[in-house]
Amino acid sequence: MRLAVLDGRAVVIDADGVVDVNEASHGRFGPDPTACYDQWSSLLTWAADNASSAIHQVLPECPAYEAPSPRPRQAFGVGVNYADHAAEAGMAVPGDPLIFAKFTSSLAGQASPLLITVPTVDWEVELVVVIGASARDLAQGDAWSAVAGLTIGQDISDRQLQFAGATPQFSLGKSRPGYGPIGPWLVTPDEFDDPNDLAISCSLNGEIVQEARTSGLIHDVPSIVSYLSSVVTLLPGDVIFTGTPAGVGFARTPPRFLAGGDVLVSSIQGIGELRTETVELGGVLS
Ligand code: ZN
Repeated sequence: MRLAVLDGRAVVIDADGVVDVNEASHGRFGPDPTACYDQWSSLLTWAADNASSAIHQVLPECPAYEAPSPRPRQAFGVGVNYADHAAEAGMAVPGDPLIFAKFTSSLAGQASPLLITVPTVDWEVELVVVIGASARDLAQGDAWSAVAGLTIGQDISDRQLQFAGATPQFSLGKSRPGYGPIGPWLVTPDEFDDPNDLAISCSLNGEIVQEARTSGLIHDVPSIVSYLSSVVTLLPGDVIFTGTPAGVGFARTPPRFLAGGDVLVSSIQGIGELRTETVELGGVLS
């Protein structure tokens, strides 16, 4: 199933168009997408039985996709989680997943442009996990059962802020408004042949700058979810950015950062493409 958010309402998208979850379920689910994650397993059962026969609307020509989980109670990032990115960043590979917060006010959907307000804004395409059940102390073998689905994200980073001090400031450096675009929709794990091995890439103005497979994750999705649940209580709708492969801007010679008018297209096999357009405010780069 593909779940998206249009005009603040949860919708199911299939080959026949768009099903408004709240209308089709006669008010049982939604329209608030956050409420959908709180009833995720019931929603899946309902959708399997009813979505294809429900009244469909035509998908708009340019749908203004919002974040598929727009107001999670928690949003996490995993740092240094591909070996080639660890090497380019000059960082040691951590033994356990290196976790930081993406403060939830940084999340955005495809419809919102990324505002460039500093000259050191960098891209990081990432597989993003959305949680579909409250979870504590999950075994790795049970981790996928707590996952609502997968989406595409950009862990946008202000490198000057991130690396200003002696110890990296991951959480703040990656949490300016709009620094967490995710979407365009959520795809449930059953839709993938192998959700642990997906092609992932990022292009900047048409040039491929990152290209990898998620099987290259040092800590894979079950490891991350299990590890996080050993420390915190995961909650329905929570968002986890799983780390980025090599090819980010700050590690290049010379370094390369985003400017107004740039277009990032982030792709993951089995999900699709997340398009992020940038707008520069007030000539900050000149
Ligand atoms: Zn990242």
